Amino acid sequence: MKKLIIGNFKMNTKPSEMKAYAMSLATKTTESKNEIIVCPPYTSIAIAKQFLDGSNVTLGAQNVCDVEAGKCTGEISASMLKDAGVEYVIVGHSERRSKFKETDRLVNKKIKTALASGLKVIVCLGEDLVERQNKHANAVVKKQLDEALKGIYENELESVVIAYEPIWAIGTGKNATVKDVQSMTNFIRREISDLYSEKAGQGINVVYGGSVTISNYKKLISIPSVSGALIGGACLDVDNFAMMCRENF
Ligand code: PEP
Repeated sequence: MKKLIIGNFKMNTKPSEMKAYAMSLATKTTESKNEIIVCPPYTSIAIAKQFLDGSNVTLGAQNVCDVEAGKCTGEISASMLKDAGVEYVIVGHSERRSKFKETDRLVNKKIKTALASGLKVIVCLGEDLVERQNKHANAVVKKQLDEALKGIYENELESVVIAYEPIWAIGTGKNATVKDVQSMTNFIRREISDLYSEKAGQGINVVYGGSVTISNYKKLISIPSVSGALIGGACLDVDNFAMMCRENF
């Protein structure tokens, strides 16, 4: 079954390092049946584009401005990303929510701006450890999801990927269990069915992210309600990442 394998480079891979990575990934994934997306830092997007063109790998970005134009020093607009050859953008990553104080409302604005420019969005949701221990994970994810999708029409959902990323599992080496991932991804699908339709709930892409590595990716990505994975640290090793991209799930 075809899955989405998404690499989030975070603040890694300089332009001078991107060429070798892109050339290697392109060569190693020619036979892959999965949809592969890499999200390098802004400064490495142009070089990634140059060496991924014609390959099986699609380009994503890690963030986007919530408005298309205006006095926004230091920001990058959705149409700039589109013009640079980017097809996907990650929105609402927990590191942006916590370190850069991004709210649900801002995430919703970013999604709308990105969709209006023809980008696809990877919307990150997830609870922290205390919320999970207090059995509030579903309520937290439901609120984030409802707010993120406010004003988004059903026909736009084909350009939306939901990434369930429990915060306590990101970059920590701790995984959610197969049972937890199964349960939350099904919960997200049911919630989308309630908001839109049964067809929307079944059709939406819901990926898992949080310490996915070469030793655990198979069991997590093979879960039927999981459409793929958002991979941070482990995507930086091109050999391992390419191996995950080549898998038949
Ligand atoms: C991420 O950055 O979205 C992520 C899931 O990171 P890691 O795989 O390193 O936990």
